[in-house]
Amino acid sequence: MDDISSQPWRWDEQTWRGKVDHVRAGLSMKPAKWKNGARCAVALSFDSDHETNELRDGGKSIGRMSQGQYGNRQGVPRILNALAKYDAKATFFVPAVAGLLYEDEQRRVVAEGHEIGIHGWIHELNSQLPYEIERDLMFRSADALERITGVRPVGLRTPSWDFSPSTLRIERELGLLYDSSLMADDDPYELLEQGEPTGIVELPVEWIRDDAVYFNMHRFNGLRPHTPPTAVYDIFFREFERAYEEGGLFLLTMHPHVTGYRSRIWILEKLLEEITRRSDVWIATHAEIAAFVKAECP
Ligand SMILES: [Zn+2]
Repeated sequence: MDDISSQPWRWDEQTWRGKVDHVRAGLSMKPAKWKNGARCAVALSFDSDHETNELRDGGKSIGRMSQGQYGNRQGVPRILNALAKYDAKATFFVPAVAGLLYEDEQRRVVAEGHEIGIHGWIHELNSQLPYEIERDLMFRSADALERITGVRPVGLRTPSWDFSPSTLRIERELGLLYDSSLMADDDPYELLEQGEPTGIVELPVEWIRDDAVYFNMHRFNGLRPHTPPTAVYDIFFREFERAYEEGGLFLLTMHPHVTGYRSRIWILEKLLEEITRRSDVWIATHAEIAAFVKAECP
């Protein structure tokens, strides 16, 4: 079969440039100083996937769904307690189905001063969806979270950071302030679509700063946690330390059903202890950080 789409060495320059330029990092939005003259910004995020990781894969395993429920029963309360102890505000990205399963949890998160952002309907993979379905799910998710919490979400983290060719277009249609799914920098930047500035702030993620990659476990496919908690703390702390030295952003992704355990929650607590030891660090929600850099770097 002579299918040029599967033979990239045959693409002409317009084709490969077109793919690269579809969604691209534009201007850096790293400010000279952060809010109140702070040297460094810290954005903590918690993706409250709960049962939707298993539901997205068909919902066959009741055991894996019970691990999701642990995220609600133990994970989120432990995380909220740690954040309250250090007076730190954070962002929770919640699939709409997890929001609907645990409406009280979402209301508590918002009542304690945290932000809730969009994280898909049922943790679906956007790249598997046609534009119309992805758009419908994203709008329904925003509506559901707004109905539950009374606050309209202004940011999106794509489930599994799976950013489709339509995602940015839909974010623009939704009028979102920021995205937090891409990895072109350590510090905030503006997203370009086909070379055109979109006004949408990217708050970049990285698998390095994600608890799941170190701790995930699956009984039957042989996946086991491969990094001890002390080593995970070391990686996260070094990421923070260098962000502090460079005057940049430290953005961390954790999951209540991954980090909320007795043997792991200390990682978050110890990070908060070290971060708050420095008086010139601004810990804020993703929405606050995106709004700040947009105003500083118009
Ligand atoms: Zn997720």
